[in-house]
Amino acid sequence: VRTEGPKGLKPALERICREARQAIAEGYSVVILSDRAAGPDRLPISSLLATGAVHHHLVRHEERTRIGLVVESGEAREVHHFCCLVGYGADAVNPYLAFEALWQLQDDGELPGDWDHDQITAAYRKATKQGILKVMAKMGISTLQSYKGAQIFEAVGLCEDVIDLCFRGTASRIRGVGFEILGEETLRRHSLGYPSREENRLPVLPNFGLFQWRATGEKHAWNPLTIANIQKAATQGDKGAYKEFSRLINEQVARECHLRGLVRFKAGKAIPLDEVEPAAEIVKRFCTGAMSYGSISAEAHESIAIAMNRIGGKSNTGEGGEDYKRFAPLPNGDSKRSAIKQVASGRFGVTSWYLTNADELQIKISQGAKPGEGGELPGHKVDKVIAATRHSTPGVGLISPPPHHDIYSIEDLAQLIFDLKNSNPSARISVKLVSEVGVGTIAAGVAKGHADNILISGDSGGTGASPLTSIKHAGLPWELGIAETHQTLVLNDLRSRVRLQTDGQLKTGRDVVIATLLGAEEFGFSTAPLITLGCIMMRKCHLNTCPVGIATQDPELRAKFHGQPEHLINYFFMVAEEAREIMAQLGFRSVNEMVGHSEMLELDPTVTHWKTRHIDLSKVLAPATLPHPNVGTYCQITQQHGLEFQLDNDLIKECQPAIQDAKPVRLDIEVQNIDRALGTMLSHEISKKWGAKGLPEGTVHIHCRGSAGQSLGAWLAHGVTIEVEGDANDYVGKGLSGGRVIVYPPANVSFVPEENIVIGNVALYGATEGEAYFRGRAAERFCVRNSGASTVVEGVGDHGLEYMTGGRAVILGPTGRNLAAGMSGGIGYVWDPQDELLGNCNLEMVGLEPMEAAEDIAELKSLIEKHHKYTGSTVAAAILKNWAAELPRFKKVMPTDYKRALAEMKVQEAQAAAKGPALAGVGGQS
Ligand code: SF4
Repeated sequence: VRTEGPKGLKPALERICREARQAIAEGYSVVILSDRAAGPDRLPISSLLATGAVHHHLVRHEERTRIGLVVESGEAREVHHFCCLVGYGADAVNPYLAFEALWQLQDDGELPGDWDHDQITAAYRKATKQGILKVMAKMGISTLQSYKGAQIFEAVGLCEDVIDLCFRGTASRIRGVGFEILGEETLRRHSLGYPSREENRLPVLPNFGLFQWRATGEKHAWNPLTIANIQKAATQGDKGAYKEFSRLINEQVARECHLRGLVRFKAGKAIPLDEVEPAAEIVKRFCTGAMSYGSISAEAHESIAIAMNRIGGKSNTGEGGEDYKRFAPLPNGDSKRSAIKQVASGRFGVTSWYLTNADELQIKISQGAKPGEGGELPGHKVDKVIAATRHSTPGVGLISPPPHHDIYSIEDLAQLIFDLKNSNPSARISVKLVSEVGVGTIAAGVAKGHADNILISGDSGGTGASPLTSIKHAGLPWELGIAETHQTLVLNDLRSRVRLQTDGQLKTGRDVVIATLLGAEEFGFSTAPLITLGCIMMRKCHLNTCPVGIATQDPELRAKFHGQPEHLINYFFMVAEEAREIMAQLGFRSVNEMVGHSEMLELDPTVTHWKTRHIDLSKVLAPATLPHPNVGTYCQITQQHGLEFQLDNDLIKECQPAIQDAKPVRLDIEVQNIDRALGTMLSHEISKKWGAKGLPEGTVHIHCRGSAGQSLGAWLAHGVTIEVEGDANDYVGKGLSGGRVIVYPPANVSFVPEENIVIGNVALYGATEGEAYFRGRAAERFCVRNSGASTVVEGVGDHGLEYMTGGRAVILGPTGRNLAAGMSGGIGYVWDPQDELLGNCNLEMVGLEPMEAAEDIAELKSLIEKHHKYTGSTVAAAILKNWAAELPRFKKVMPTDYKRALAEMKVQEAQAAAKGPALAGVGGQS
């Protein structure tokens, strides 16, 4: 009750716990935790605290399974709230106030449509359910039963008392508020609705501006004042405006929005400013975030690339490939080529030529603002150029799967690092991780997997296209992740062989210095560069209606883009100059000298917010423990990737006539399963010399005998055929880029090829072009994210053709479960004599059709003929022999959206053809 004040919270929670046990003792089977009785004198207790406390109390007394826990809460309204309640033990939640608020909105005419209350309730429940399912999927959990009580959360800023009573076992690296402060907060909120004096009663409760900025609401780092100042500084080179911007961010916003706002620099042995390395060196450590061309306009993407190339920093393609035209330098010496080429789960446009044109290849495991989530580019944003860049079809939406289908373990990640290193030996390989508890251990594994660079991505980035619930509630501040990663890597003597980068709302030179002191040596910026180029944080990025021509593909809106590379350069130099000034005060001459000196930071006693009194950052600010005095604390050693042992070194020597002069070369070699990524380095050499088109058809033919290792023919370039008489491991034809891969068992084998697996998991993942023929079956996840290769195989395991966006897959044998899930393009032809396909196919995005169109039949026959020719397949021979009888046994797996887009394209082509002669006629008359 109110008269008990803040101190009443903990005893009230303990009382509820006792009452729950009492209910069990009295034989009840369900207990309802309700805050409905809240009123002028009674405060509602946080339903999460109550749920967690009761759940853990009952677990402690081994009574949890004896009773159901129902929460009746006026508080729960967002997906995250429901997830927390279920995650801390609730069996059911009744968000009665959310329902009533929606009904009231409907009665007031604020909601569109003429739904009744029941329909609104059903819609809200459905939306909430979908949200919870998405969160569970991100965590890899399939059933609510498994999510319940799993408490997969990290607490930030709660004291041990609270954790112990309500959230026992939850990771918590920063200690902070206890029950009294939580009680005080409850009282303050309560008094807004029930003020002690009638004259203080508010006609309308305040809007705290949690999602959209409000002058009197929650602090948002980007507000009209900070945006105005950074834009003035960038566009006019106005150092005064930058100083004001950094003052606002460092002294006001950071204090209330970021962990780094709670610390200050200790006094160091100051040195003259001119002894500190120049800003031109520091800006080389700056990178821009992974924003894909597609999510932002070509103008914005290219301006960022030009700016970063001018200053020696790095821009990032994001997940969407890059227009090849951008790889050639401009006449004035500028370059629109992004130095960092991202390799994300969708593998859009990831070809040998794309990889060859990189200084850094970044494997995006996760994104700070939306960890665990894939992405989706809606069909209306996929225009002709974007579709070409992504090797897809205009107008068809594109899904990036949440996981990389070739990474299910740290060994798989090490394999991808190795494959990418082969695809471009001079590029460094980076792995993007998200800041979360345990990231240090993951980073240690990644460093041992030979990554050259590790990016720890903070929670506070993300454009308006990221789901708000993820931006608000998922991921953690980079300060936590970078400190943990640096400490763990130093402790295990791994720090000196990787560069550490961090990102997530870095804005000022002070941010850069703090990130360095916590362990970073490179720095990523995303939102700030967009703002310098004109973004006004309208958060409409996903709607294609960006008013300043940044997050849009609409030509009219793109014409409104007025950003210039110079603006971004101005901003970055001002950030670097601010960093230099702080470095001089602290006594550091270079960034390398400063890395990891967290002892130069301390809690700022002048931050006197009533809720920060008990904050304890000691775990974050603790200097790394040195295992021995000579341990390196920043990147000083290059990783050993072992490329010198690759069979490809011999292939490259032997294939010089082809590489240099496109003369035919035929090789016969033995392979073993230790020969991984066969043909990948060779393809890189071909791409370097011949570009995207590679070599003419049939120039290089490599005949191999034996068991090929993993990633056979990864990113194999056009003009190269690898024929394996034997079998192959996982990832055959990964990212196939125009080459041809053939695998068949030797003639003298004792087994029946079509009844056995001849290639491992995840073949042709992310293939963009080329052909592949396999006599025998493929294991699981065959052809996932194929966007252009044609293939024939004699059976596949589960999840075949998932997320395919292009190409052709002929399956002359059984299919596993979940075929074609998420498939939005390309065509599958399945020989289905037993009529089993319907039961195995995921029909959410595809339909099964009979083989009727002449062009489909011709295409299918031609592919089976080639299969027979290259592999000697007896299955193909039998089908071709009885073609008329076998054809009806084929089914066409056709994505619905793709079918619609192809039909529309045909109409457009017909219209254009009809227009052509008419226009010519007009020209002729004049
Ligand atoms: S102005 Fe709005 S829509 Fe455009 S990029 Fe910025 S936040 Fe996105």
